[in-house]
Amino acid sequence: MLDLLQKLAVYREKYYNLMVGRYALWDRLNKDMLIFCVALNFINLFIGSWIVRTVAALLFLAPIFRLFSKNIDKREDENTNYCKKRKGVVEWFKIMYKRISEIKTHRYYKCKNCDSYIRVPYKKGEHTIDCPKCGKEFKVKIR
Ligand SMILES: [Zn+2]
Repeated sequence: MLDLLQKLAVYREKYYNLMVGRYALWDRLNKDMLIFCVALNFINLFIGSWIVRTVAALLFLAPIFRLFSKNIDKREDENTNYCKKRKGVVEWFKIMYKRISEIKTHRYYKCKNCDSYIRVPYKKGEHTIDCPKCGKEFKVKIR
């Protein structure tokens, strides 16, 4: 048992020495690429396409490359840009879910001025709404 712990300590030190000066972070981009890799492999069980298999392989290799990369600034920039885009996509799916689940009682409109979504009670006819974020007024027609 003690022998095993000593071996583990040696491996841990070797790992730390290997990772000095490297990115070595399991950031959002790396995690998501691995999740997509697993998902694509699962989908490919039914499709069996070499294109999907290649993309999945790249999604497996890219996080490894990023973990060992010494260009830390560039890897951080990649993750920051990815997180910004991801936030927009997640937001869009949340709004779509709300739109569908509240379709009988509310409607959602995007403000043309500030791009935020506005929830309006479902009443037929023409209405003027004020954007709660930027205060701009605009007209909507609910059918
Ligand atoms: Zn607005």
